Amino acid sequence: MSVLLCTDLPDDERRRWREALTAALPEARWIEDAQAAPADDPIDVAVVAKPPPGALAQLPSLRLVQSLWAGVERLLADPTLPPQLTIARMVDPAMTAAMVETATWAVLALHRDFPRYAAQQRAARWQVHPQRRADEVQVAVLGHGELGRAAAARLAGFGYRVQAWRRGGGTTDGTSPATGVELRQGPAALEAVLAAADIVVNLLPLTPDTRGLFDARRLAALRRGAALVNLARGAHVVEADLLAALDRGQLSHAVLDVFDVEPLPPAHPLWRHPAVTVLPHVAAQTDERSASQVVARQLRAFWRGEPVQHRVDRGRGY
Ligand code: NDP
Repeated sequence: MSVLLCTDLPDDERRRWREALTAALPEARWIEDAQAAPADDPIDVAVVAKPPPGALAQLPSLRLVQSLWAGVERLLADPTLPPQLTIARMVDPAMTAAMVETATWAVLALHRDFPRYAAQQRAARWQVHPQRRADEVQVAVLGHGELGRAAAARLAGFGYRVQAWRRGGGTTDGTSPATGVELRQGPAALEAVLAAADIVVNLLPLTPDTRGLFDARRLAALRRGAALVNLARGAHVVEADLLAALDRGQLSHAVLDVFDVEPLPPAHPLWRHPAVTVLPHVAAQTDERSASQVVARQLRAFWRGEPVQHRVDRGRGY
C-alpha cells in the first residue's frame, strides 16, 4: 500500500504532516517522490495539500486523492487531474469545532458592538449604545454543509434568528436543519436571505457559481448597516466593491479571514480600514493530529473496499 504524500507546503509543515500521517497509518508505505514507489506496490492513493500542478497526472495506478484541506478549488483547477480519480475532501470534527467557534465569536462580537467598543477604547471614549437581544438579530449562514450546518445550529442555540442557504437539488447527506434554523435553497432565495440579514456568515465553497458572489450588486442587496463575516474563500468577495460598500456605510463591518491574495499585502487598504477585522486565514486550521486520524480511517476503509467518505463532485465543483 504505497501512498504518495504530495504537497508544496514549506518543509517544516510537510515534516509535521509526514510524522502525523506515518504515526496514524504506519502500515502504509509513505512516499514523497512518486518515482520511489516499488513496481510491485504502485501508488494507489495520494494524500495532498497544495500539490504542484501536474503532480498527479502520471500515476497509472492512482485511484483516490484525499485532500488534507476542506476546500478543493485549487486541486480541481489543475487541468491535468485525470477525470476518473475519486477525490475526497477533509472533513474533521476538530476543524468543524474550530470553525463554529470563529463564526460564533464573530457573530457575538458584531451583535454586541465589540468592534465599536474597541475603537472607543482606543480613543478613551466612554459611550453606551443600545443593546439588542439575540432574537432581534437575523443571521444568514451561506452554505449548509459540514461547516455551515454546525455554525448555524450553534448560532440558533444562542437565540439568533438564523436562515441558512444551500444550493439544493444535490445529494449532500444530513441536510436537515437544526432546531431554530430556517433552510432556504437555490439562487432565487438568495436575495431575500441577504435582504433580511443583519449579519451574513459566508461558509460556501469556491466554485464557478460562488466566485465573486459578494459584488456591488449583492452588497447593495444587504440591509443597510449589515455586517459580513467571510470565513470561506477570498474570491467570494470583490474586495474593491466591499471597500466601497464599507465607505458608504452600506456595510457596518466586515470580519475577513480569507483574501484574494494571501498573505494580505502590507499596503492593502483592508488592513487599516476602521470597519474591517482581519484574520490571517485561521478560522479553522487543519490540525495534523486529528486530520491524520481522519485520513487513516478513510484509507483503511478504502482498502477494505468500502465507500469513500466526503467525495467531491467534480461537476458541482465541491
Ligand atoms: P461542504 O461541501 O460540506 O458544504 C458546502 C455548502 O455550500 C453546501 O450546503 C452546498 O449546498 C452549499 N453550496 C455550494 N454551492 C452553492 C451555490 N452555488 N449556491 C448555494 N449554496 C451552495 O463544505 P464545508 O462546509 O466543509 O466547507 C465550506 C468551505 O469553507 C470550504 O469549501 C472552504 O472554502 C472553507 N473553509 C475555510 C476555512 C478557513 O480556515 N477559513 C477552513 C475550512 C474550510 P448543498 O447542501 O445543496 O450541496
